[in-house]
Amino acid sequence: MARVLLINAGSEAHINPTLGVVQELIRRGEEVVYFTAEQFRDRVEATGADVITYDVGKFLEAFLAGGRNPWARVGGLLRTADIVIPSVLEQTKGERFDYIIHDSMFGCGRLLAQILDLPAINSCTSFAFQQHSFDSLQDHLTRHFPADANERAQQEFQQLVSNVQAKYDVQIGSAYEVFCNPEPLTIVYTSKRFHPDGESFEESYKFVGPSIALRSHGQFDFSHVDTDNLIYISLGTVFNQAVDFYKLCFAAFANTKYTVILSVGEQTEITQLGDIPANFIVRNYIPQLEVLQHAKLFITHGGMNSTSEGLYYGVPLIVLPQSADQPIIARRVAEIGAGIHLNQEGLTARDLREAAERVLEDDSIREVCVEIGGSFRAAGGYRRAVEEIFAYKRSLGMTE
Ligand code: UDP
Repeated sequence: MARVLLINAGSEAHINPTLGVVQELIRRGEEVVYFTAEQFRDRVEATGADVITYDVGKFLEAFLAGGRNPWARVGGLLRTADIVIPSVLEQTKGERFDYIIHDSMFGCGRLLAQILDLPAINSCTSFAFQQHSFDSLQDHLTRHFPADANERAQQEFQQLVSNVQAKYDVQIGSAYEVFCNPEPLTIVYTSKRFHPDGESFEESYKFVGPSIALRSHGQFDFSHVDTDNLIYISLGTVFNQAVDFYKLCFAAFANTKYTVILSVGEQTEITQLGDIPANFIVRNYIPQLEVLQHAKLFITHGGMNSTSEGLYYGVPLIVLPQSADQPIIARRVAEIGAGIHLNQEGLTARDLREAAERVLEDDSIREVCVEIGGSFRAAGGYRRAVEEIFAYKRSLGMTE
């Protein structure tokens, strides 16, 4: 039995794939202390882990303090060190851990692993970056900013690196390290088949596929729902305040043969949407895994989890990326033929309905989705993740 410290200061998308992993670790005898936001306490505790939390307000303030420049965004992760590190150290004072698992982005995991001198495993809930792909993304993103702004932001980033190194006695080799937190073992929750350049990653990246574990929160009653022509629409949990888009969905699918389940997110007031067509079911939160098992089409923002969950159940996708990594994921979905990528700007109700009809009638798209879903299942999910973690422990001479 080992004691594991799990550091994850990310949103729901960063938490969900770890839940099955933690449950399986605990089933196999590990003890897990999980550092997360208070809002996820119940679902993390349901895995059997102990939960410690941080101040999300201060964390976001620090992360966003530097502005929108790509260098400032990476620097924002370093700014969160002063929120995360003292909080973890204080709440775990006197406790012994054998290894650490940390999110690939949020929570300064690589720094904490150094401070606590623990073997570390990286949990990557989106596409993984290698040094060269991170550098080219950074190049691409900085092109949208004036050269002098980039230079200033890069200097500020270097200053942050020096400050954090001095304050916490850690080594920070590059922006790539700050953004991606690479470790000797990285768990990636997709298949090599779906990942861009999946075959180019070295052995330390383990592509375990989506970590689909039944969730304890949320139930959905299908007894009165006609699932023959079921469309599910969601923009995820972050970039989902989109009243105009939801009304556009009403206009696209009202009075059609489709039943539409629409998740509008916790931040949207359903009353703002006006009259809801009779063939729509609108909720602030939907038990997505349950609904995807019945859906014939998923109109999604292209979050990594939503995309993976849809494909896991072989559901064709229309991807309307909103932000973050979603444009990259949308391009990959289109490239591989698992759906289509639509731009929300200028989109009309008619465009959306016609796109839906096109995807629903296209057998080749459905076949690709089923094939990718197969590659996800074959990758092994959370059980394989735990196998890889245990193999890594053995390689370090640790017993199970
Ligand atoms: N989710 C859900 N019900 C909802 C909306 C989202 O269960 O109504 C879950 C979804 O299954 C996924 C996660 O929240 O696991 C969203 O993650 P994703 O990476 O798709 O997008 P993000 O929320 O980070 O934009």
